[in-house]
Amino acid sequence: MLREAVKNKAPLGKKAKEFMNSGKLVPDPVILGLLGKRMEVTKEGFIMDGFPRTLEQAKRLDTLLEKERKDLDVVINLVVGEETILKRLKGRLVCSECGKVYRREDLSLSTRSCESCGAALCQREDDVSDTLKQRVKIYLEHIHSLVDYYKKKGILQDISGEGHPQEIFNRILEILN
Ligand SMILES: [Zn+2]
Repeated sequence: MLREAVKNKAPLGKKAKEFMNSGKLVPDPVILGLLGKRMEVTKEGFIMDGFPRTLEQAKRLDTLLEKERKDLDVVINLVVGEETILKRLKGRLVCSECGKVYRREDLSLSTRSCESCGAALCQREDDVSDTLKQRVKIYLEHIHSLVDYYKKKGILQDISGEGHPQEIFNRILEILN
């Protein structure tokens, strides 16, 4: 949603871009603003990926959910070591047009275009190494209080995020079923 807003040069997207490029978290009012707009048009269930990342965001999300009369069924915590996080971010390529994500190790050396739309693949500006460690550090600082918050609500599920994407996907499906 964030990247889409940046690409469409929406007012909230322009604000978000400055923060993303410097490896900082996008301010909550920007993210909550985007989420609120999307929830109003969502009739069925939804999945949020990578949000909330801080306790403050989780509390603000609860306020928004209350307003929209929606509820969270489950919060999935993918547990991954710091080394794996860094390795994955460094090996990630993104389509410059549609935003589809690829793993460098899955691509042959000659493949540098998107299988969906044919556009060039590139490394995200915020996945280069000088902001990478900063992002991981911020993430790890915030994650503990967030995990506690959802544990107390009784909706947290820890899942190992190590291994192949398909294995992790199957673990998630098992929980959801
Ligand atoms: Zn594409």
